[in-house]
Amino acid sequence: MDLKLKDKVVIVTGGARGIGKGISLALAREGAIPAIVSRTASESLKTIAEIEEAGGTAFQIETDLKDPEACKRAVNAAYAVYGRIDGLVNNAGENDGVGLEHGDFDSFISSLHKNLIHYYMMAHYAVPYLKETQGSILNISSKTADTGQGGTSGYAASNGGRNALTREWAVELLKYNVRVNAIVIAECWTPLYERWIQTVEDPEKALKSIVANIPLGQRMTTLEEIGNASAFLLSPLSSHTTGQITYVDGGYVHLDRALLNA
Ligand code: NAP
Repeated sequence: MDLKLKDKVVIVTGGARGIGKGISLALAREGAIPAIVSRTASESLKTIAEIEEAGGTAFQIETDLKDPEACKRAVNAAYAVYGRIDGLVNNAGENDGVGLEHGDFDSFISSLHKNLIHYYMMAHYAVPYLKETQGSILNISSKTADTGQGGTSGYAASNGGRNALTREWAVELLKYNVRVNAIVIAECWTPLYERWIQTVEDPEKALKSIVANIPLGQRMTTLEEIGNASAFLLSPLSSHTTGQITYVDGGYVHLDRALLNA
């Protein structure tokens, strides 16, 4: 299937590593040009080298998305390279464990900056360009908005915000034919996931129990599966899909475990 993404410029925040890398690679396989935004140029350059080795094209913008002015510069820098922006993937973030009992004002606000506020800023600055191309926005989100996790109020609130903004922007941008969707992820092995699992008691046992509870195949979602679903939602082949919160999670959030184990 040709997703008709050839030569489309798509900003991918956090596109150098983990889920963002999976999305960058999938877009590049379809001939799109990922504009990879991350704080570590050396990591972005590694991903770009991988893309170029496979015959694709990508470029990078070194930015700390916590700075709202840097978001503006990043969007404008991405536009300047090819004179177009066809898509925005809001993905960068971290599960930073700012809890209710053990959190405080500053760390809660800081978590919102790491995980939510740049989603708004990037979309805000990208909208004028997306209007020109009738492009599309994809927000990456986490099951913690639906299921909670405990001890991670800032991250859970951010994911609730990511889902709510998906619907809100889908409505606001209808008139421009700019579509907005989200992908919710449950369990996917990435550098962030590896860091997080080390923070729980007995990581090995915890990981075994998590994986055993993933309904489809008792395995984690792969980066390629998330990348493929992302490319499809961003593509013109999804031209009548907007405001959708799509769970690419092996049934983790919605399927009844009691029935599965009966
Ligand atoms: P990851 O492995 O840590 O990768 C995150 C990427 O984002 C890195 O390239 C990182 O690069 C970049 N980044 C982070 N903060 C940034 C900032 N302030 N400015 C610029 N770049 C920044 O994380 P991941 O597991 O792929 O997670 C990506 C997204 O998926 C997160 O928003 C998370 O909520 C969501 N998610 C993940 C899972 C999972 O199972 N892994 C589940 C649900 C949702 P630098 O550090 O070099 O900047």
